[in-house]
Amino acid sequence: MSDVSALVASLTREVPDFPDPGIQFKDLTPLLADAHGLNAVTDALAASADGADLVAGLDARGFLLGAAVATRLGTGVLAVRKGGKLPPPVHSVSYQLEYGTATLEIPADGIDIAGRNVVIIDDVLATGGTLAAAARLLRAGGATVTRAAVVLELTALGGRNAVAPLPVDSLHTV
Ligand code: AMP
Repeated sequence: MSDVSALVASLTREVPDFPDPGIQFKDLTPLLADAHGLNAVTDALAASADGADLVAGLDARGFLLGAAVATRLGTGVLAVRKGGKLPPPVHSVSYQLEYGTATLEIPADGIDIAGRNVVIIDDVLATGGTLAAAARLLRAGGATVTRAAVVLELTALGGRNAVAPLPVDSLHTV
């Protein structure tokens, strides 16, 4: 196990049956609140994102990590929001959850992502539905999504396959 992988493992809080019975929630709050943890994870994600000219962070913990990575790379950050948070006009994409649907949005005005090389940053890759939808949304805006990087990957849920062929780097897998 790499140093950063061990750090993620030691600073992740396991919360059984949250938010629903049977879900093992991975709470990265202790990692993000730890100076060494935050810096090590930011460095590792930034290494994956090298070459990007825009970082997209996914609602909501991906905002924290995405902004940290963007400052390392010297790029800006784009917050990919859950539906209904942004003023119009927006580009939006809806995707299937286990029960119902969810929506992601980015502004359709004031920022032009056409032709930008974007890396998507998030905390946890579970089923991959969110990440795949974010990639579709950014591509619809004309961006090239080069790769994604996450702190933690839950391999049993097959998220990597759901976002293929988009390459995903994960700092720690369980
Ligand atoms: P998914 O679309 O299933 O890959 O879910 C990804 C999003 O849900 C990520 O933005 C995570 O923040 C969150 N998430 C899903 N499962 C978990 C989990 N077991 N622990 C913590 N966060 C999770």
